[in-house]
Amino acid sequence: AKSEGRGTFRFFEAAMDERLQARRGLERDLRQALSDGALSVHYQPLEDCRTHRILGFEALVRWNHPERGMIPPSEFVPLAEESGLVMQLGEFVLRTACRDARNWPDPVKVAVNLSPIQFRHSDLPATILGILEEEGLPPHRLEIEVTEGVMIDDTERALAALTALKAAGVRIALDDFGTGYSSLSYLQKFTFDKLKIDRSFVQLMAENRESLSIIRTILALAKSLDIAVTAEGVETEEQRTLLKNESCNQLQGYLIGRPVPACELARFYEPA
Ligand code: C2E
Ligand code: CA
Ligand code: CA
Ligand code: CA
Repeated sequence: AKSEGRGTFRFFEAAMDERLQARRGLERDLRQALSDGALSVHYQPLEDCRTHRILGFEALVRWNHPERGMIPPSEFVPLAEESGLVMQLGEFVLRTACRDARNWPDPVKVAVNLSPIQFRHSDLPATILGILEEEGLPPHRLEIEVTEGVMIDDTERALAALTALKAAGVRIALDDFGTGYSSLSYLQKFTFDKLKIDRSFVQLMAENRESLSIIRTILALAKSLDIAVTAEGVETEEQRTLLKNESCNQLQGYLIGRPVPACELARFYEPA
């Protein structure tokens, strides 16, 4: 029994080792990808609910791995956060997004997701404003998307960074609204420009009374606070009509358009 126990232990040890090695390998590949251009940015349109006009695009990072093919951001963004690569990743996405957005007509905005880890650096606002300046994009055309995770480690620092960016004209959206634990308390700490309703609510809205009630409540709250609302994950005409009837401001989802490379966006807007 004793030797059997040791065998089991060795087995786990070997499995752990393998996982750790796979992770280290992926981390090494990500570092490489950041320097040799294997990362790219795709864009998904956001439309005005009433007029169907395109208001902007959300930048979503993509990794085309030489052996594994497309790796979704849900797999490598957390890895970048744990391994210290997220600053470099974040700068790459922001710079690429600003450069691409310069080719779009003036009111069309670009939205960029920021990791809470990026807010640990006190010079984040200066870095962002520096990139806007270097790429020649006016601050009012950038929207940054943060989740409530941003307020968790160092609320004061995060608030200072958001306030500085907002003062410079950058718009600030609260992403995945409704999925966290304390979204409401953040609304009294900072005046967000926009709330993005998580797609889990939109997906259930048509068949689930509770989801529809939650969406109505978020819309009423946002209206009274004078904050715009985007509904995420809109996939059907039925969802689009329901959201329009509820006076939602903006829609995003596969129905309006999937994320695509910058070169495929011209069909969404009249060129500048
Ligand atoms: P998110 O910010 O909530 O982005 C929306 C996600 O929903 C995207 O997944 C998008 O492709 C997907 N989506 C959009 N419309 C629909 C729809 O109608 N149906 C369904 N089923 N899905 C839809 P993606 O691109 O895989 O990104 C996943 C998450 O990874 C993002 O969630 C965001 O949290 C993170 N992420 C992506 N790019 C970046 C980045 O550049 N920086 C950081 N820090 N995080 C990023
Ligand atoms: Ca987002
Ligand atoms: Ca979201
Ligand atoms: Ca999400």
